Amino acid sequence: MGIGELYQQADWKAEKHAPIIEAPDTASADTPVLISASVGKEIGHPNTTEHHIAWIEIHFKPDSEKFAHQLSVNRFTAHGESAKGANEGAAFTEPVCQTTVRFKESGTLYSTSYCNIHGLWETQKRIEVS
Ligand code: FE
Repeated sequence: MGIGELYQQADWKAEKHAPIIEAPDTASADTPVLISASVGKEIGHPNTTEHHIAWIEIHFKPDSEKFAHQLSVNRFTAHGESAKGANEGAAFTEPVCQTTVRFKESGTLYSTSYCNIHGLWETQKRIEVS
């Protein structure tokens, strides 16, 4: 089994693990575009020492190319860990990230996320560039 088969897909409105990509449907070439990716916007995901979203990545596959480009890597590393004990820490990183990208052509955005208990998830979104 390839690792691609381990990435689960689901509607983010119904499944709390599926990353949400927020980006415009269309963009002008070579103009900065703000892209955000997050988990739990519609249905909250736990953020505890024992159970949390550890990372989100954003990738882009241009229509004319064979391979995808990695756009952004985001690790969420505070989940209440503390010398006082689990969940007693003063900070909990929320699984939300943003990046700004200039595109030269249309393609598909992919966001991947990882829950430390429920594994790998992915979401896709088209962006038309002209
Ligand atoms: Fe989970």
